[in-house]
Amino acid sequence: MTPAEHERTSGHRTASVLVVLDADSTLLQDEVIELLAEEAGARTEVAEITERAMRGELDFEESLRERVRTLEGLPASVFQHVGERIRVTEGVPELVAGVHAAGGVVGVVSGGFHELLDPIGERLGLDHWRANRLVVEDGVLTGEVDGPVVDAAAKAQALLFWAAAEGVHPRQTVAIGDGANDLRMMEEAGLSVAFNAKPAVRAQADLVIDHPDLSQVLPLLGLRG
Ligand SMILES: [Mg+2]
Repeated sequence: MTPAEHERTSGHRTASVLVVLDADSTLLQDEVIELLAEEAGARTEVAEITERAMRGELDFEESLRERVRTLEGLPASVFQHVGERIRVTEGVPELVAGVHAAGGVVGVVSGGFHELLDPIGERLGLDHWRANRLVVEDGVLTGEVDGPVVDAAAKAQALLFWAAAEGVHPRQTVAIGDGANDLRMMEEAGLSVAFNAKPAVRAQADLVIDHPDLSQVLPLLGLRG
């Protein structure tokens, strides 16, 4: 386990299913990096880069570092301020409750940031989550990412790591995402779901959901919706 990740271990039980969601534009309605960039007066520039990265036109890591550089000089208080603006996608509490009721676990893996995701993960009762961390020095963001970036490969690794930790066979895993950096974890999962996704993701997913409500995943898993 690296210091850059937060894990809650769940003992020795064996889960029935592992559902792993992307964060930005999947678990959350927002792209959090854009909300942060807005505070730095760089939202338009960053939104353009995000759009291209999620379509698979840019290297994710390079594009993330470029976007994070625009945050240099923001006070760390921006996490609280932006955290209050983040909107959780409709149907998330129902999805988490439904998966838990069936003996399953829910993880979130994000190219975004622990500083914003941690309170959301706690509040929603997620079992696992993993994201990037932003470097803060003297109360100010330096515009750098701390440690290795959570990219497409890291997302796939997180899904397999959590499956092994929970005793879930990879066939019993579900990956839900919207962007090009979700494709690797979607390939590893037993079932992949494109959620209001970019064309490249829709084309490769097993299932496509176009309605912005994550509780719609439950009937796809044979669970009560
Ligand atoms: Mg996304």
